[in-house]
Amino acid sequence: MNILFAASEAFPFIKTGGLGDVVHSLPIALNQLGDDVRLVLPAYRDVLASVDGLKELGFWDLPGADVTHRVRILQAHHEGLTDYLYLIDVPSLFDRAGNPYVHSDGFNWPDNAERFTVFSRAVAQMAKGIPGTDWHPDVVHCHDWQTGLVPAFLSMAHPRPKTVFTIHNLAYDGHFSRDDFTRLALPPEWWSPDYVEFYGGFSMLKAGMVFADQVTTVSPTYAREICTPEYGYRFEGVLQHLGDKLSGILNGIDLEIWNPETDDHLVQNYSVENSKQRQPWVKAKLANKNELLTQIRLTRADVPVKAPLLGFIGRLVEQKGVDLITDMLAELFRTTDAVMIILGSGDSLYEAELTKLADKYPARLHVHIGYSEYLAHRIEAGCDLFLMPSRFEPCGLNQMYSLRYGTPPVVNFTGGLADTVTDATAMALKDKTANGFVFNDVHADALLSAIKRALTIYKKPKQWQQLCETAMQQKLGWEASANKYQALYQK
Ligand code: ADP
Repeated sequence: MNILFAASEAFPFIKTGGLGDVVHSLPIALNQLGDDVRLVLPAYRDVLASVDGLKELGFWDLPGADVTHRVRILQAHHEGLTDYLYLIDVPSLFDRAGNPYVHSDGFNWPDNAERFTVFSRAVAQMAKGIPGTDWHPDVVHCHDWQTGLVPAFLSMAHPRPKTVFTIHNLAYDGHFSRDDFTRLALPPEWWSPDYVEFYGGFSMLKAGMVFADQVTTVSPTYAREICTPEYGYRFEGVLQHLGDKLSGILNGIDLEIWNPETDDHLVQNYSVENSKQRQPWVKAKLANKNELLTQIRLTRADVPVKAPLLGFIGRLVEQKGVDLITDMLAELFRTTDAVMIILGSGDSLYEAELTKLADKYPARLHVHIGYSEYLAHRIEAGCDLFLMPSRFEPCGLNQMYSLRYGTPPVVNFTGGLADTVTDATAMALKDKTANGFVFNDVHADALLSAIKRALTIYKKPKQWQQLCETAMQQKLGWEASANKYQALYQK
């Protein structure tokens, strides 16, 4: 089938979270299964700077907020991505450096409603025909609120391709004002609770849900959870109404980028499969741990290398349960010999609190505020345990990376974490299905007691190594998910 992927970010150009990884990997997996997937992105400055063979295919004049924009459709090439990459070029909206959604001061770009309405209008136009090509998509697969208006615009076209809308995180709803709605010249009949109106404004996320032919989320458990008020962010009614139009397909991970056997960032590579003798991976993992401890200067006389090293990587936001970590660290350090490294950026309050804690416990805690792919790989490989106490988690990638790197995750039982981590109960340890530690209460005490359970098993090398090997052998690639998307497209 011909599939047009529309998204607001994609690794390796511009990535703020799991969305960028999915938009990179899923098209590649689908193309390997025989589909013809092409990707369309906004022509941000960083994207234009990293592609080759830019070619202008044509242009349209499309409405923005009280103005008409000249929108150029570019074709580009980037090694390792889909053969056809299309860019929607409107310099006044997208030729900006840095983050695709927020200004360097952390505030949303004030014209986000206009930026992603124009992008969505252009994608809907492409779905009907791309200048200079006779390629037509059978399905347009849209991702998150930035593309939510694409199915809405396409609903007015006849004939039209089918639309799939994937929600990567319900917490970001693309909510804008009535004034924006009017200035963007959106059809007045959409201003209704049955369509895009949402609590006094309108939501582009809701537009995607209401108008798409199929709606998916990135894990089966999250698809169920968001139909409840606890996780629904006020969309639970809309979501319940979707019935079997809504389903969950678990994300995979990129097995080449996240492969401890070939990962250039590691000081020693390892894998379970290629272990000639038993457990050389244990030694290699220890070498990575030692290197990481040295790098972050936690190798002091009072921190023996055998002290368990805990890791966290992620956006420092409430969703990720950062407060559960900060609330239990003092007690963790008081009652165990564990040490910890944290990599992340986000909420300035969390950043300040973590920095303060790192100053207070210099021999036990290292905090790196910022974004570092390199350090993320080293943490996944060098740590003994990976913490992911998210309040909700649509899918989560980091717990899957940590499974693959033999670093058992400690997770809250929610969303994709519930779908990928099997708790080390006595039974699961016995039948060798355990791959991590799960707790059920969003509270620092629950996290701490799960860590302590893990540390008890950590002291029993045979049991621990079995747990790590089960984790490393888990099937986490994109193939199974890509098959499920194919079945959905066929439907
Ligand atoms: P989310 O999409 O909610 O941010 P995921 O776990 O699905 O969470 O994906 C996060 C992605 O972003 C992972 O690839 C993770 O490694 C990466 N990431 C997040 N914060 C950082 C950081 N500070 N440095 C490096 N990588 C990060």
